[in-house]
Amino acid sequence: MDLGLTGKIALVTAASKGLGRAVAEELAAEGASLILCARGNEALQETCAAIATAYGVPVLGLAANVADPADVARLVQAAQARFGRIDILVTNAGGPPAGTFDMLTPEMWQAATSLLLTSVVELTRVVLPGMKAQGWGRILNITSISVKQPVENLMLSNSLRAAVTGMARTLATEVAAQGITVNNILPGYTRTERVVGLADATAAKEGISAEEATARWEAQIPMRRLGEPREFAALAAFLCSERASYITGTSIPVDGGWIRGLL
Ligand code: NAD
Repeated sequence: MDLGLTGKIALVTAASKGLGRAVAEELAAEGASLILCARGNEALQETCAAIATAYGVPVLGLAANVADPADVARLVQAAQARFGRIDILVTNAGGPPAGTFDMLTPEMWQAATSLLLTSVVELTRVVLPGMKAQGWGRILNITSISVKQPVENLMLSNSLRAAVTGMARTLATEVAAQGITVNNILPGYTRTERVVGLADATAAKEGISAEEATARWEAQIPMRRLGEPREFAALAAFLCSERASYITGTSIPVDGGWIRGLL
C-alpha cells in the first residue's frame, strides 16, 4: 500500500528514543522529511543522523523541551524556516512520574500538566494555522491505554491524558472540514526505556524484582509479551498518511489486547 507520505513534512516531538523515535523511523521509511526534538541535543543528533543515513530523507533535529511554550514556538518557527510548512504533527513527551494521589504535590501536578497537556495545546496552536491554510494536515497525539482503562499507580498519566483526549476529540470536529484529522494512538506496555524505569518503580513499591514486575504485566497481556516500538509505529504512520483520510477523532490502542473493553 502506498501511504502517500513521500515528501510530506512531519514534526515528531520527544523523538530521540522510544516510541517517538520509532514513529520518526517509520515515517522516514515512507519518504517523509522530519523535524525531531528532544531536550538533550547529543542523543537527538545521533538519532537524526542515523535516520537520515538509513532512509535518505532530510532530518532536522532541534533541542527543545515541549513543556516550555517558548521552546515549542522556537521549534515550529525553525521547522517552518527550514521546510516551509508542517503537514504532520506527532505530539509526544516523556512520561510523568509514577505515584498514587497521596504521593503527589501541587508542583508535580503542575509539571505534569505542562508536560502532557500544555505541550499538546501549544504545539497544536502553532502548527494548525499552516495546516488550515493548505487544507491538509494530520495531528496524532501519543497518549496511553490509560485513557481507556486507568493504570494503577499512574495518577498523573491517567488524569492528564484524559484531558488531551477530550481536547483532541473536540478539535477533530472543529477542523474536519478543512482536511485535517486529529487522532490519538494509545501505547500499551511497549519495550522502551520508560517501561524499564516503570518496572523498577513498581518493583521498589511492591518489594519484588523488576523481572517479576515485567512478568506480571505480561501475564495481563493476551499476547503474553511487551510490544515492540516498531509495532506501535506502524499504526502511527498509517494514521498520519493520505490513506487515513476518513479517520478522525479516534483513540486507537496498540496493546496486544490488554484493554478488555468492547469499544
Ligand atoms: P522514553 O522514555 O523511552 O522516551 C521518551 C523520549 O522523550 C526521549 O527521546 C526523551 O528525550 C524525550 N523527552 C522526554 N521529555 C521531554 C520533553 N519535556 N521535551 C522533549 N522531549 C522529551 O519513553 P517512551 O516509552 O517512548 O514513551 C513515550 C510516551 O508514551 C510517554 O509519555 C509515555 O508515558 C507514553 N507511554 C509509553 C508506554 C510504553 O509502554 N512505552 C505506554 C503508555 C504510554
